[in-house]
Amino acid sequence: MASIVCFRNFILPGISKIECSKLALLQSVYYRNARYCGKKSKHSKYDLVVIGGGSGGLAAAKEAAALGAKVAVLDFVTPSPRGTKWGIGGTCVNVGCIPKKLMHHAALLGEALHDARSYGFRLPQPENIKHNWLLLRQAVQNHIKSANWVTRIDLRDKKVEYINAFGTFKDPYTVQATTKKGVKSLTSKYFLIAVGGRPRYPSIPGAREFGITSDDIFSLEHDPGKTLVVGAGYVGLECAGFLKGLGFDSTIMVRSIVLRGFDQQMANIVMEAMMEKGVQFLHKCIPKSVAKNPNGKLQVKWTNSTGQEFNDDFDTVLFATGRKALTRELCLDKAGVMLARDGEKIETVNEQTNVPHIYAVGDVLFKKPELTPVAIHAGRLLVRRLFGGSKIQMSYENIATTIFTPLEYGCVGLSEETAIERFGADNIEIYHSYYKPTEFSIPQRSIAHCYLKVIAKRDGQQQVLGMHLIGPQAGEVIQGFAAAIKCNLTVNALLNTVGIHPAVAEEFTRINITKRSGKTPFPASCCS
Ligand code: FAD
Ligand code: NDP
Repeated sequence: MASIVCFRNFILPGISKIECSKLALLQSVYYRNARYCGKKSKHSKYDLVVIGGGSGGLAAAKEAAALGAKVAVLDFVTPSPRGTKWGIGGTCVNVGCIPKKLMHHAALLGEALHDARSYGFRLPQPENIKHNWLLLRQAVQNHIKSANWVTRIDLRDKKVEYINAFGTFKDPYTVQATTKKGVKSLTSKYFLIAVGGRPRYPSIPGAREFGITSDDIFSLEHDPGKTLVVGAGYVGLECAGFLKGLGFDSTIMVRSIVLRGFDQQMANIVMEAMMEKGVQFLHKCIPKSVAKNPNGKLQVKWTNSTGQEFNDDFDTVLFATGRKALTRELCLDKAGVMLARDGEKIETVNEQTNVPHIYAVGDVLFKKPELTPVAIHAGRLLVRRLFGGSKIQMSYENIATTIFTPLEYGCVGLSEETAIERFGADNIEIYHSYYKPTEFSIPQRSIAHCYLKVIAKRDGQQQVLGMHLIGPQAGEVIQGFAAAIKCNLTVNALLNTVGIHPAVAEEFTRINITKRSGKTPFPASCCS
């Protein structure tokens, strides 16, 4: 009976039968618990209250207001253990994508300066070109401050009420907003949880006391010096990559494998490319402790897989050991919202939680990609369904992503491992090739790791299942191919596409060597 109520009132059109029954199951727990029923206020002050003013929350709030809804967005940043805090906009703008991309770009500029000498620019010898961390830090922080300011103006113009407050649920229809001035209650028809996550620290002595995370690195008030990065996921590789590019000694401690979940052939090439640039890797190691020496250096002790102990001194220890969703603090039990089986994230069906009028988007979702455009797109589509009569659901399939390592790695679709698992090795074809970016030739940059791979079904037109590229501007290149994959790109169509010469993206239109053939994937000349 409970699920019938929920279907009548809340189920959004366009939902599949499987999703329907999954949602009914989720919501039956809510309805079984009588104390949550019958509290709905007839006079909700808002149409939508969003908890979390980051990528997903802000996009949803602005879109809902544009559709005529009365919207409030709560955002509050708890300082990091080192005391770092920031303004509105969430992780991406303040301590994620944006400062990371700027620092990555700074590192690429350093590399370009070296190349520039070969292209005729009269510059000092490489060893005499110095980088100033504090100047970069200031430029990056200035950019962030201006983005925070623009965001506040934008919210005001779009008639979204911004409340700098920490949100917690009081009951299923009321959120308490704790501000510096006190607590106020907000009632609403719908709620959106978009609180994202924060970095995890390993539970070892000294980690929180002496270590930093991505929350601190972009505003660090001294240069990081010799740095140990613990963790070999997106954040670990990107931070170690730009730090090395800016001239700092940088080492990555890998617990198991590099870039878990990604195509492992590609992940290993990314790692080799970083090693070639001087980033060091400690394989199959876990940190044991961090302590401060009398000289101010941080002594890190660690063990390898055979239990052997090691230690070394570093100026900075950066933990990039994953992120924790900020759900515990929300008092979700008071609203009846259930957590997923990991006890931390929120399971939804089409962004709807087990409580029909409470939704969630972004990094807080269970088993969904933790990426800014994913949070934004899901948030916008959701409020268009709630307030605009739309039926369009978010698809979490074939989402392109790029790891901004010194040589970037962009990909969309399936990894080789997943394609084999889903279709069987005999039913897929893998095209691959090493290639030479034209601009690498004059400065004689290494081309050893410029590699691409297209994974396709083996039958008929050979539908493309995955595309992977390691090389300069991989992020820019892969975006367009992601659109093509959405349109059911085939190998035939790819080969019938006339390339742009000389460009890296063109290499995808020239694929002709399959792994199965055993032929060498190395290029003969630039124009073959
Ligand atoms: P967030 O952006 O984290 O926003 C949540 C907001 O809610 C925060 O401001 C938080 O303080 C606030 N909040 C939390 N709890 C409460 C509460 N109870 N009350 C009020 N406010 C609260 N993604 C990419 O696509 N490309 C990249 O290049 C990229 N680079 C990244 C680099 C780094 C170093 C990191 C850490 C992440 C990166 N990401 C990148 C991931 C991206 O930043 C996240 O996927 C995205 O920010 C998630 O958006 P969100 O809305 O879910 O949460
Ligand atoms: P990830 O989960 O990707 O990586 C965490 C890393 O830390 C793994 O290598 C993991 O090893 C290791 N690790 C975890 N716990 C420990 C421990 N106790 N001791 C040692 N090592 C440990 O998390 P990230 O923080 O790198 O990234 C979080 C998310 O942010 C990503 O999934 C991504 O969606 C997003 N992001 C996106 C970016 C982009 O789009 N360019 C950039 C940065 C972040 P193991 O594999 O053994 O578990």
